Amino acid sequence: MSETVGRFAPSPSGPVHLGNIACCLLAYLSARHQGGRFLLRIEDLDHLRCPPAYGEQVIRDLEALGFDWDEEPLWQSRRGKVYEDALSQLSSHLYPCFCTRAELMASQAPNLGDTQTVYAGTCRHLTQEEIREKSLHRSPAIRLRVPDLEIVFTDGLQGEVRENLEQACGDFIVRRSDGLFGYQLAVVVDDAASGVTEVVRGRDILSATPRQIYLCRLLGLPVPRYIHIPLLLDPHGRRLAKRDRDLGLDRLLQRFTPEQILGFLACAYHLIKKPEAISLPELVDCFDLNNIPREDVSLPAGLFEGL
Ligand code: GLU
Repeated sequence: MSETVGRFAPSPSGPVHLGNIACCLLAYLSARHQGGRFLLRIEDLDHLRCPPAYGEQVIRDLEALGFDWDEEPLWQSRRGKVYEDALSQLSSHLYPCFCTRAELMASQAPNLGDTQTVYAGTCRHLTQEEIREKSLHRSPAIRLRVPDLEIVFTDGLQGEVRENLEQACGDFIVRRSDGLFGYQLAVVVDDAASGVTEVVRGRDILSATPRQIYLCRLLGLPVPRYIHIPLLLDPHGRRLAKRDRDLGLDRLLQRFTPEQILGFLACAYHLIKKPEAISLPELVDCFDLNNIPREDVSLPAGLFEGL
């Protein structure tokens, strides 16, 4: 079997918070426990929301917790040419979309229980003449046409996942109207370019995975193994968010050692029984994917004492 290559791929739109760290931790432990390599990629495609200083801070924060990676971190904002090449490979599946946000909202039926919406295909069949005319007024986004196809894969934690692309999302954006490359495209291109074999990330991204698998197929790229981990909740069962400023790493490091923070997270994910300080190498030894629950997990109350 080939070597495992794992990665953590944060979008640095703000300070690192515990949800990010949990993701990094599990991706790291899984790769290292298998004796594999681990990579870091800064997903700063949206360079206005993710300025370089934030990406640099993420790197410092992860280093402060003891994480290490085997190559220089990859910055998506510097890889425009690679995404451009991927888009030209896909050209026969692409079309320009001139829909405004308001038009999209009006034409889309919200998807069941999800924030994902299904594109109605409004611009799918525009004539060359219509495209020329519309281009005079508005720069288009670029969409990828999806077939009536069911994508099936087995997630390392969530089990078998099936999704019909046409019904679940419809044609999706691979380049935004402001020129930014789509997240789905960049992720699959970069994972393949770095030889990533295992993607460990939050369960909130599970719904994007069928689109990514489809892109891999079109581009002839290998599909990595996916492990979508449950999300972190506070002791009241609420999802952690960037607004939970007290759970930002800078604040946490004023109150706890890195080993204590790792212990809180490892305990939340059932890797250890008590929220006690523990080092990364010790966690690598005791990591077992089978111990990680499928449902969202709560942080130990001790973390919140004194807040
Ligand atoms: N950049 C994405 C995020 O921070 C994660 C992408 C991925 O792991 O594939 O939510």
